[in-house]
Amino acid sequence: MPPAEPDLQALVARIHDELAPRFGAGKVADYIPPLAHVDPRKFAIAVVTPEGETFAAGDADEPFSIQSVSKVFTLTLALGRLGDRVWDRVGREPSGDPFNSIVQLEHEQGRPRNPFINAGAITVADMVLAGHTPREAIGEILRFVRFLADDEDIAIDQAVARAEHETGDRNFALAHFMHGFGRLTNPVAHVLGVYFHHCAIAMTARQLARAGLFLAAGGRDPLTGARVVAPARARRLNALMLTCGHYDGSGEFAFKVGLPGKSGVGGGILAVAPGRAAIAVWSPGLNAVGNSLLGSEALELLAARAGWSIFGG
Ligand code: GLU
Repeated sequence: MPPAEPDLQALVARIHDELAPRFGAGKVADYIPPLAHVDPRKFAIAVVTPEGETFAAGDADEPFSIQSVSKVFTLTLALGRLGDRVWDRVGREPSGDPFNSIVQLEHEQGRPRNPFINAGAITVADMVLAGHTPREAIGEILRFVRFLADDEDIAIDQAVARAEHETGDRNFALAHFMHGFGRLTNPVAHVLGVYFHHCAIAMTARQLARAGLFLAAGGRDPLTGARVVAPARARRLNALMLTCGHYDGSGEFAFKVGLPGKSGVGGGILAVAPGRAAIAVWSPGLNAVGNSLLGSEALELLAARAGWSIFGG
């Protein structure tokens, strides 16, 4: 049996030190200059417990582009607004295809497989946008993330948002395709404006772990007492993160780490150990399917040593 109360500060410090000789491993996302220019040797790990303790190592106070990790927060918002009607427009199955694939979307008549592939997240952005201007919707998403992290000091990196727009051909293709199927209710330019901006939110590992704490605590923020979502919804968000949170590497992540998690091409991962902690890691180098290489390894080590895998052992 693993120790009931691991010394988490020693654990994260040891994981940092063990991985340090390989900092810089993997391939940094280079589709936009602001990501291509991030120092590949950055590494952060932060663990926040429901008791309010934080354990961190490395560059845990340096903001990075959370990219697709933001899809967890927009989905939470959309569920709050529409409830289960979200599932009329987006599925809940892993895709087995790259995150920006259009092939599957054609097969399924413009209804994305899950809310975490790009087509699904664009559809979720359309839901959050309904009844608002893009500026209002972006503001609402940012306020929600600040509320979750209990930190007003979180911002959108406008250079990243602009660059996403300039290089967003595939996302425009996906969105126009879905619009052509009558699957989006707002103009494509507005929907993608929202999508690009939420992908461009910058957070530190410490802030990101804090923002995910409600998922580790049955939907309630244990530190402020705020009820974010019902326990059943938190459980389901965790299930989606486990099955769909790592692009085409979700099975491998479940196999090796055994925790719900959501990754982004900025090299960040938010992981949830239900009842125990929310964890954020950041290392910009990615593996072949676009997940942080050392970030995944750090989580594998942490989950194994703390005994946190949801599958036991
Ligand atoms: N903004 C990125 C894109 O849509 C998100 C990539 C990601 O983190 O998966 O290409």
